[in-house]
Amino acid sequence: MAQKQIDIVSEIMGLDSNIRRYLKRVERSLIVSIPIMMDDGKLQIFEGYRVHHCTVRGPGKGGIRYSPEVNLDEVKALATWMTWKCSLLNLPLGGAKGGVCVDPRKLSKNELERLTRRYTSEIINIIGPDIDIPAPDVNTNAQVMAWIMDTYSMNKGRPVPGVVTGKPIEIGGSVGRESATGRGMFYVLEALCNKLNYDLKSMNIIIQGFGNVGGWIADILYTYGSKILAVSDITGGIYSENGLDIKELLEWRNQGKFLRDFQKTNYKHIGNDEFFSIKCDVLIPAALENQITKVNADQINCKIVLEGANGPTTPEADKILHSKSIYVVPDILANAGGVCVSYFEYIQDIHSYFWDLDRVNKELKKIIVNAFENVFTISKEKNLPLREAAYIIALSRVAKAVEFRGFFP
Ligand code: GLU
Repeated sequence: MAQKQIDIVSEIMGLDSNIRRYLKRVERSLIVSIPIMMDDGKLQIFEGYRVHHCTVRGPGKGGIRYSPEVNLDEVKALATWMTWKCSLLNLPLGGAKGGVCVDPRKLSKNELERLTRRYTSEIINIIGPDIDIPAPDVNTNAQVMAWIMDTYSMNKGRPVPGVVTGKPIEIGGSVGRESATGRGMFYVLEALCNKLNYDLKSMNIIIQGFGNVGGWIADILYTYGSKILAVSDITGGIYSENGLDIKELLEWRNQGKFLRDFQKTNYKHIGNDEFFSIKCDVLIPAALENQITKVNADQINCKIVLEGANGPTTPEADKILHSKSIYVVPDILANAGGVCVSYFEYIQDIHSYFWDLDRVNKELKKIIVNAFENVFTISKEKNLPLREAAYIIALSRVAKAVEFRGFFP
């Protein structure tokens, strides 16, 4: 999918074929074996990856995910999308990604810590504040980042907070980082609604995924006054035509409980198929990639798709949504608030000077709304979907950097 998107946009742009070939490959992939002594005394071997797609514009940047679905191809695609995301926001960073093939729900806290520290040790030579800076992604969080920061620092013999972002505030994290992806999504949605003369407060929203991204955007939109008709997690969806009480559902989630077990009068439990056919104004896929496909794109009945997840829409589905005049706000723009505040965290760590929440949110809004304006303008000028417009901007910047630096040797 990631490669197909490069091809589609390269055609439109008339991109030099050497550069196109260069952008379709990754710079380096490291596959590591992670042997972990489990609490029951049995040794288990996990496989982990860290991929640098492109560091032409700066050190690699991108999250680490823990999931049984993780594989090298997935990590390569995710690393590629990080290159475009950082470029679109004009951050001086490249694209990278990592992952471990593991179901973290099956591990104790001690096992998770050992896995994280061993994985960090295995990739230690290709990460660092001026090489590649990991961050949270699916099933990883501030605690996991703290273990990575500690393992790296112990090895170097000095504290190195700038090796990861998304850390706890107490060890060099940034205020506003945890909510940043959701907040950025809100700013982009607000800007798009202004362009289209839609009143965001009166819009009906559905959100697939109720983790860090889905949970925060649900909270922000609910607090703002929009109606959230449905949300879903890995156990299924929950729907109410009068709107859900998001605060109540977040409290439930924070106790480690699943939506499947939440009961309330007028709340209906629904499956994934039913979920995507709910009539609404904004559909927010905030779970995993490949969720909106040619199989279900036809059933989708909304005005805007706001991509909280990375790669939730396949190129075939993109075409179908476009033919239905649905605005698809692409992942590399919609969810870029996370990496944007990661960049702020990295700068704060390097300077050892920390900002307040007001500054973080203001600077985030400035950068992400500016990126949106550029994308919207190109999309109108060239009569292209938002994704293609975003890719034109992102690829052009990287292509120019490649041209200036040349092909070594
Ligand atoms: N994992 C997030 C993403 O996919 C954040 C990456 C980062 O902050 O480096 O954008």
